Amino acid sequence: MEKREKLYEGKAKVIYITSEEDKLIMHFKDSATAFDGVKRAQIEGKGSTNARITAIIFKILERKGVRTHFIRELSENELLVWRAERFLVEVVVRNVAAGSVCKRLGFKEGYRFPKPLTELFYKSDELHDPLICVEHVELMNLAPVELVPQMKDIALRVNEILSNLFKEADIELVDFKLEFGRLPDGSLAVVDEITPDSMRLWDMKTGEKLDKDRFRFDLGNLMEGYEKVLKRLRDTENRG
Ligand code: UDP
Repeated sequence: MEKREKLYEGKAKVIYITSEEDKLIMHFKDSATAFDGVKRAQIEGKGSTNARITAIIFKILERKGVRTHFIRELSENELLVWRAERFLVEVVVRNVAAGSVCKRLGFKEGYRFPKPLTELFYKSDELHDPLICVEHVELMNLAPVELVPQMKDIALRVNEILSNLFKEADIELVDFKLEFGRLPDGSLAVVDEITPDSMRLWDMKTGEKLDKDRFRFDLGNLMEGYEKVLKRLRDTENRG
C-alpha cells in the first residue's frame, strides 16, 4: 500500500489517496482552529496525540461491535481508513449542557440532561454548521433519511461506551460530535475522528476542561489537556 496524492485538506487533517482505491490515509495536522477557522494556531504534537486518541477509541468501538472506518495505525500521525461515502450531517450527543446548546436554548453550562440529547447539524463551513432536523436531511439530501434513526442509535451506543470508558479515567464525557458514512461493503459506519477537538471532557475531580475549549477560550495549554486524556486512556486500557 502506497501513499499517493492529496484528496482533501481540512482544518485539522489531510486525506491522501493510496494505491488501493478503497483505502485512504488520514493525516492529523499540528494545527488548531476554532470559531470557523477565525482563531488558529500551530501546536506541536497535537496531530500525533489526536491520531493516537482516535485509534484507541475506534479500536474500542470496533471491539464493542460499532462499525468505524478505522483499519490500522500507519505512523505517528497517520491512520489507514476505509474510503467512505461521507454524509453531510453531524450528530452531536450531549450529557451535560455546554457550548452552543447554552447559547441557543438558555441552558446553564453544567446542567445535566435527564437523558442524553441528540442533535443534527448540517456540515457546512459556509453556513457555520447550522442545527437541522430530519426533514432537512431529506429535503437537502444530506444523507439517506432512513438511516437517521440508526445514526442516532449508534451515537447513543457510542455515548454509553465512551461515557463508561472516560468515567474509568476520571473524566466526564460532556458532549461529542460524530460523522457517518457508508463503507465500501455498504455498511453504515462512524467516520472522521474522535478527539478532544470533537468532544468536551471535564476532569471529574477538579472540573478542569481537557478539550478544545482550552484553545477556544484560552483556558490553558491545549496540549497539557490532550496529553492528560491520552495518558489516562492508555492507563485505563493497561488496567484491562
Ligand atoms: N463539534 C465538532 N465540530 C463541529 C461542531 C461541534 O467537533 O463542527 C463538537 C464540539 O467540540 C463539542 C460538540 O461537538 O464537543 C458540541 O458542540 P457545540 O454544538 O456546543 O458547538 P461549539 O460550542 O463547539 O460551537
